[in-house]
Amino acid sequence: MSRFINKKYASLEAYTPGEQPRERKYIKLNTNESPYPPSDGVIKAVNEAEVSLLNLYPDPTCKALKEKLAALYGVKGENIFVSNGSDDILNFSFMAFCNDSDRLVKFPEISYGFYKVYAELYGVKYSAIPLREDFTVDITDYFGNNANVVIANPNAPTGIALTVEEIEQILKANPDFVVLIDEAYVDFGAESCLPLVDKYDNLLVVRTYSKSRSMAGARLGFAIGSAELIADLEKIKFSTNPYNINRLTLVAGEAAVDDDGYYVENCKKVADTREYTTKKLKELGFECTPSKSNFIFAKSNKIGGEELYLKLKERGILVRHFSNGKICEYNRITVGTPEQMDALIAEIASITEETK
Ligand SMILES: *Cc1c(COP(=O)(O)O)cnc(C)c1O
Repeated sequence: MSRFINKKYASLEAYTPGEQPRERKYIKLNTNESPYPPSDGVIKAVNEAEVSLLNLYPDPTCKALKEKLAALYGVKGENIFVSNGSDDILNFSFMAFCNDSDRLVKFPEISYGFYKVYAELYGVKYSAIPLREDFTVDITDYFGNNANVVIANPNAPTGIALTVEEIEQILKANPDFVVLIDEAYVDFGAESCLPLVDKYDNLLVVRTYSKSRSMAGARLGFAIGSAELIADLEKIKFSTNPYNINRLTLVAGEAAVDDDGYYVENCKKVADTREYTTKKLKELGFECTPSKSNFIFAKSNKIGGEELYLKLKERGILVRHFSNGKICEYNRITVGTPEQMDALIAEIASITEETK
């Protein structure tokens, strides 16, 4: 740290992304990427003609992409915000809606680590609410109309989802506060609360291309909400970095909407592989949360969480381990291809046999 840093950031603890090692080839099951490549349409869209236009700025209004997304989700362009990954949207949302000193924000204690980082970055008062013993969210903790609410649905790293009815109760109980539902994993089997956007002007649904659309490397996220909420986010974007989505990502994003069917199929494959792998893990003595996402959250009755993580890493398989006391016996395992999961199961069987 330099002696020049703004004092308010001196003690800020930054988010720690999952490892992206380059030193050897791993079966990479640690950052919830898709094991499948982008669609042919996306690969064709990022072509020489588009690259040769890189001397020109991209469209800061992202009009063409918004129109495609609007048609796909049955909303208007004014209901859509697009940005450089959904992390960008979460960041802008904390900036836009949480910054008054009297606006508390509530989120689950065990959830996506970035919520706390953004709250601390902006000096927002927050309440990190414990989950129930079984890692489910008790929606009544979020009633009270006294705080903005941020919930990942399905939640991470548990994969457990709330129903649309439960989310609607949270919305009804907080009419004067923004309820942000982070649907990063919704395409893998949970119910989306998008149909509620028309009814509740305090709902912001945040989505990403990183997981279900195989585009983590392109950085593209979008949000759907009332025209007023979206205008607030646009104001923040145009006050920070109006060209925050590059040309190549814009055309790739449009092509991915055109090829939606391909991604729907991939999500089905991932969900099937998740169920298959969960069954195998249970046979090996694991407890798994009922995940509706593209990862499995699992704890062995034979080996500790950190030890399993380290032993898998030695054997060339990366999973995500969190040292937080309440979940330190678990690992979050991204669902890969069936072949990758068979390799995982074989290594786990051999590791747990050894440690018996
Ligand atoms: C991966 C993830 C994000 C961020 O996704 P990007 O669009 O890649 O920035 C947001 N929320 C949750 C819960 C995630 O797991």
